[in-house]
Amino acid sequence: VVSANGHPDFPIQNLPYGVVQFELFQPEIVVAIGPFALRLRGALEAGWGEDLSLEIRAALMAPWLNELAALRPADWTAVRLALSDALADPAWEDRLRPAMELIPDDASSFDHNVPVHVGDYTDFYASIYHATNVGALFRPDQPLLPNYKWVPIGYHGRASTIDVSFTVVDRPRGQIMLPGATAPEYLWTRALDYEVELGLILGDAAGLRWPTTAETARDRIFGVVLLNDWSARDIQSWEYQPLGPFLSKSFRTTVSPWIVTSDALRPFEVPMPRRPAGDPAPLEHLTVPDDFTWSIQLETQIETSGMREQDLPIHTVSRVNYADAMYWSPAQLVTHHTSNGCIMNVGDLLGTGTISGPTPDSCGCLLEMTKRGTQPIILPGGESRGFLEDNDVVQILGYCEAPHAVRIGFGDCSGSVETDE
Ligand code: CA
Repeated sequence: VVSANGHPDFPIQNLPYGVVQFELFQPEIVVAIGPFALRLRGALEAGWGEDLSLEIRAALMAPWLNELAALRPADWTAVRLALSDALADPAWEDRLRPAMELIPDDASSFDHNVPVHVGDYTDFYASIYHATNVGALFRPDQPLLPNYKWVPIGYHGRASTIDVSFTVVDRPRGQIMLPGATAPEYLWTRALDYEVELGLILGDAAGLRWPTTAETARDRIFGVVLLNDWSARDIQSWEYQPLGPFLSKSFRTTVSPWIVTSDALRPFEVPMPRRPAGDPAPLEHLTVPDDFTWSIQLETQIETSGMREQDLPIHTVSRVNYADAMYWSPAQLVTHHTSNGCIMNVGDLLGTGTISGPTPDSCGCLLEMTKRGTQPIILPGGESRGFLEDNDVVQILGYCEAPHAVRIGFGDCSGSVETDE
């Protein structure tokens, strides 16, 4: 597909999967290639994939990606190679053309589903800069709790909260203790925030039946999405002790519509950064041989209704690379989660936790960037934001670049805020 050459997100080296619902049809699996979505059901009907097993072809006809993710990593690779071969072959171009749909520039008009059925959702806290920055706001004398360098911290989220970009977030209400008050009130949140994260999607049903070890954890990761863990900070600060966040997080979580596969991310694997001298080594069961992370560049953008009225472009408020920000690797998150015997299922979603670097312009949420709203950011046009206002749009972008590799991207993970009074 000539038009995919030089596409910033979806060149032939990427081939991310989505699930799209066209009018009057069942949801179906698509693959992004340049500006097009290739409908796999249509491609199979056109004769593509005849060398793939019946089991694989049946999985590609499913209305979500769970059946494909349930197969073995070698099967994932086989599908990728079959797609890559056909899409690079001019002889296939005419045969596949009827199964190609143009992806509109305005992705909100394309009816994406959440690409996998998520049974369970867990959110970690794996960026040491995020943990330190947030800790410093609440506990200046002890920003990082003593367990942080020993155990990957996480909480169980709610799968029912997960929605696909573009999400309209209804401003949540909850118990809020106002400054100086002696009792909480039930109010609309005044401290609505986003959290920039990646989501790991688990697969390999046969593998998941066995204990996942540090050696095998990477094979359980089918792919990665961008994730926004919308958060209400005033509800969170009142409710979070002693069991962690609850209703401050479970009103909405947005994921990007395209799953970038582990295979596509392989050229962007980099070694996990070495722990600083003096830090404890991970316990043996969390010590991953040749442990890796991905060099994924993330950008967060905000656009207000005032900026739209003045025709100002969406504004980038932070940039961070996932590989520089994390204390715990993808494989360590998977390993830790299963280390007690917890049963994991295909389609389970593991959020990495907010991805923040050490500087304000690399922070993955407003809580950190604005020091809990006390140092608002200034936007083009002169508006300021401590936290999100109604009609604000938050857009997360992600892409990978490396020497000798073609750039690939994740598309976007976006949502806007409304108050439903
Ligand atoms: Ca989070």
